[in-house]
Amino acid sequence: MSRYLKILLLSVFIILLIVGSTKQEEQTATQQLADHKRPPIIDMHMHASWMRYISDGRAIITRPYYPEGSINEPTTVTSDEEVLQLTLAEMDKYNIIKGFLSDDLKNVYRWVATAPDRFIPSPMINLKTLRPSIDFLRAEYAKGRIKALGEFTTQYYGIAPNDSVLDPYFSLAEELDVPVLIHTLGFGAHVPTFRSSLGHPLLLEEVLVKHPKLRLWIENAGYPFLDEIISLMYMYPQVYADLSTITWVIPRETFHDYLESLMRAGLGKRLLFGSDQMIWPETIGMAVEAIESADFLTEEQKRDIFYYNAVRFLRLKEAQ
Ligand SMILES: [Zn+2]
Repeated sequence: MSRYLKILLLSVFIILLIVGSTKQEEQTATQQLADHKRPPIIDMHMHASWMRYISDGRAIITRPYYPEGSINEPTTVTSDEEVLQLTLAEMDKYNIIKGFLSDDLKNVYRWVATAPDRFIPSPMINLKTLRPSIDFLRAEYAKGRIKALGEFTTQYYGIAPNDSVLDPYFSLAEELDVPVLIHTLGFGAHVPTFRSSLGHPLLLEEVLVKHPKLRLWIENAGYPFLDEIISLMYMYPQVYADLSTITWVIPRETFHDYLESLMRAGLGKRLLFGSDQMIWPETIGMAVEAIESADFLTEEQKRDIFYYNAVRFLRLKEAQ
C-alpha cells in the first residue's frame, strides 16, 4: 500500500468517525427532545385572576377542596405577576400550546399582551359585576380581541341557565358562531347566593332547543349530575364538557369514577381537558396528572381529552 493510499484511507476513516459521532450526537439530541417534549395539550378552562386580599392586606392563598377539611393547601404564589409568570411556566412544562382564558377583560387583555397567541381570550359574565353590553361584545369580536364567550358564572348569583336574561348572550354567540363555557354543576365556591339546584344540566335543555347551533361546553361535565349530563349530551351532540376543577378539587378516586362513567357512556370524544387555573398555577400540573394517572384510559383516549377533542370543538387546524 502506497503512502498516499494509507493517508487517504486514514483521512476517510477520520471523516467517517467524525460524521458517525455527529450523527450519534444528533440522535441523542433528538431522543432527549422527544423525551422532554410532551405532546401538545389544549387547556379549555383557565382564568386570568387577580389575587384576592383580606382586610389586613394579606393575599388569600388557600386552595379549596371538597369535602372540606382534608386537603387545603396554600399556594406559594403571592402576587398577580407571579400568577401569570408561573402559569406560563407550567404551560411550557406540560406543552400546553393554547389556553381558553376567561375573566374580567381588563385582566384577560393584560395576559394576552404578555403572551400573545397563547390564549383564547373570553369575557367572564356573572351579570352582577361583569355584565358587558351586547354592543360592546359585538365590537370586541369584530376587532378579534375576544374569541369565545363565558365562563358564565351566573349560577353564583342565583341565576338559572335558562333565565331569559342570558338569552341575548346566547343569541349573539350563536349568530357569531363562538364557543360558550358555562358553570352548570352541583357545586362551586362558597358564595351565599350560589344555588346547587341551578346547576342541574337539564336546565340547559330549553336553551339548546332555542339555540340549536350554540357551541356549548359545560364545566366539570356537570359534576355530580352524571345521569343528567349523559342524557343532555346524548340528545344534543353539539354539547361538549370539560374536566377541569374536579381534577384537583375533589378526591382523585371520585374524579376517576366520574370520568370512567362518562367514558363507559361513550362520551370520550366530547370531553375536554381543563385546569380551571385561578390563582394556583400548580393546579395545571395536578390536572394533567389526574388524566395521565387514569389507568382505565388508553393512550389514544388520553390524547383525545388532552388535545384532539378541543381541536375538533374549536375547529382549529391541528398544526396551529
Ligand atoms: Zn372557571
